[in-house]
Amino acid sequence: MKTDTSAQWDKFFNRYYIGDILALANEYPESRSLYVDFVNIEKFDSDLADELLEHPDRILNVAEEALRSFDLPVKKTLSGAHLRITNIPQKVKIRDLRSIHISKLIAVEGLVRMATEVRPRLLVAAFECSGCGETMLVPQSSGRFVEPYMCKNEGCGRKGPFKIKLTESEFVDAQKLRVQESPEDLRGGEQPQTLDVNIEDDIAGIVAPGDRVIVAGVLRSYQRITREGKSTFFDIILDSVSIETKDKEFTEIDITPEEEEEIVKLSKDPGIYKKIIASIAPSIYGYEEVKEALALQLMSGVPKNLPDGARIRGDVHVLLVGDPGIAKSQLLRYITKLAPRGIYTSGRSSSAAGLTAAAVRDEFGDGRWTLEAGALVLADQGIAAVDEMDKMRPEDRSAIHEAMEQQTVSIAKAGIIATLKSRCSLLGAANPKYGRFDPYEGIAQQIKMAPALLSRFDLIFVLKDEPDIGRDSAIASHILRAHHAGELHAHRTNVAGSGVTHADVEGAMTVIKPEIMPDLLRKYIAYAKRGVYPIIEGDAMDLLIEFYLGLRRQGEDRDSPVPVTARQLEALVRLCEASARMRLSDEVTIDDAKRVIRVVESCLRQVAFDAETGMFDADIITTGVSKSQRDKFKILRGIIRDIAAEHGGMASKDDIYAKAEEQGFDREHVEDMLKRLKTQGELYEPTQGNVRLS
Ligand code: ADP
Ligand code: MG
Repeated sequence: MKTDTSAQWDKFFNRYYIGDILALANEYPESRSLYVDFVNIEKFDSDLADELLEHPDRILNVAEEALRSFDLPVKKTLSGAHLRITNIPQKVKIRDLRSIHISKLIAVEGLVRMATEVRPRLLVAAFECSGCGETMLVPQSSGRFVEPYMCKNEGCGRKGPFKIKLTESEFVDAQKLRVQESPEDLRGGEQPQTLDVNIEDDIAGIVAPGDRVIVAGVLRSYQRITREGKSTFFDIILDSVSIETKDKEFTEIDITPEEEEEIVKLSKDPGIYKKIIASIAPSIYGYEEVKEALALQLMSGVPKNLPDGARIRGDVHVLLVGDPGIAKSQLLRYITKLAPRGIYTSGRSSSAAGLTAAAVRDEFGDGRWTLEAGALVLADQGIAAVDEMDKMRPEDRSAIHEAMEQQTVSIAKAGIIATLKSRCSLLGAANPKYGRFDPYEGIAQQIKMAPALLSRFDLIFVLKDEPDIGRDSAIASHILRAHHAGELHAHRTNVAGSGVTHADVEGAMTVIKPEIMPDLLRKYIAYAKRGVYPIIEGDAMDLLIEFYLGLRRQGEDRDSPVPVTARQLEALVRLCEASARMRLSDEVTIDDAKRVIRVVESCLRQVAFDAETGMFDADIITTGVSKSQRDKFKILRGIIRDIAAEHGGMASKDDIYAKAEEQGFDREHVEDMLKRLKTQGELYEPTQGNVRLS
């Protein structure tokens, strides 16, 4: 039986799509696409379905003709309609595309990384002969502009010049996309590969960078052109037939009924918190508090859509600040591997889009502006781990505020106006400016981040590399044992007749073996985020309010700094929800509240605790210096000014120490403060022992 005739398609449309075609006819020409589920074609005639995959150009032509000439009960023809095949079951991974796929109908899945503006493309050009005025139509299918060879009027036959007549030419809306593999399809830090996609007519402009899409289309190849001429190597591009966006979270992660059973069983284990924490980066020693915070971040709070249209993020943002070489980068990498959707990037990433987004010119070599999504957009609905945040580009520095709080990235440049989604948790790491953390200087200055940006993190940890014999030897032995296990494993796999036994390797590995294997933990997290929506009530709510008010109360005293802002209260709420999710519970208990208060307190102690007054002080985050510190500097500057006024503008250090000691400062502290004023350029020392205020 011949399967690819127009009559066959007519029959198919009548059986499966008559309703859709009538609806399309109603809206035509505003709507021009009939979406056809591939599965229906298979059900109707499996040979036809196979033919379609093998010879899409021929079959689609026949099918589209059949649709365009479909006998409608209304006086209308669908002469410009398209057939858009969706739901092709066998998807090809972008990295697996090979020459056998060329000219075949295939479907790929991925993330839109770049999208050009939608611009008209010439389909058929109308030319006028300047000699005789004859008009000629020349189809433009190759991408290169084609002019007539000679005037078709026999009486003329001139070889030009010809003038293009735009009003009589035919155009189609066209757009190019660059689609990259989804982060969840990548294993162990692989770089994602990309595929360029051509989109035409009514489906141009419907997706934005950062969207997750399934594109069906015909894979084309075109010859590479190098400086030496045409090459025998070909590049590929997908001519799209349909494009679908998918916004469902974690549909990609399959959880079998057995795994679900295991997950639920795990969640009932009273030691689940310890187990999860111990399963985060087990090769890194210590950092229990940080790992606990990271566990909460992986679970995240509940995002809320309020009736007034406002949205409150559920994502928890965490920042690790600290000395170099203390495993910050390692932690970040581990988290992106554990998260159901994680992207690792550096603040000084080489891509033009950086962390947020950028409009770039001519990315595809056709002069069009292209919108490119940065890391926080590509990590939508996942975790973006941004290393070396202190080295962020200035553009990102300003755009990242919006990304963290509103969870969108807006861009308005070169006629491109877009708002992209960036609903992700941010895990940042930053190194202090001078290499080492300086306890006397505010965090904000040291990592070159605006205090307003810092206050958007729910939790900030300051990690210091202070020599401590007990801890150092524990870390050393942990690192050596991890290496030892690796050595045994390498020896056993690579050396013929190795005396190392399987049991030896297993035994050595126990130090670094996670309690819950990463694959299962990923599924556990996906399961929790997908199905668990905790609610805070009763005791837990009371405790949170009490804790928050307690912190605020410290600010009532007229002279004390305003301690904590409402942002911290929101952070508490999110973290409590995450804590309940860790055991897959819908109820936030008093224990969750206590756990979270402990974590938050330990964070505040590091970043906003003023040791001199014994109070929490949000000023340290927002302005970088505690109020008591600022007051001290004010007094010291006053002292220097007074002495200098008496001695012709110069103040001797001995006088300063003496006067300051009278006012209750100890000498060492004053030396420190003078040093800091000097590094900040507020003070200089023209002659040994004598200083001057600048
Ligand atoms: P950072 O990003 O903080 O500068 P890295 O993540 O590059 O540091 O870590 C440097 C190296 O030191 C890594 O190989 C890491 O595994 C090791 N290391 C540092 N601290 C620890 C620790 N507590 N436990 C295990 N390894 C550690
Ligand atoms: Mg690092």
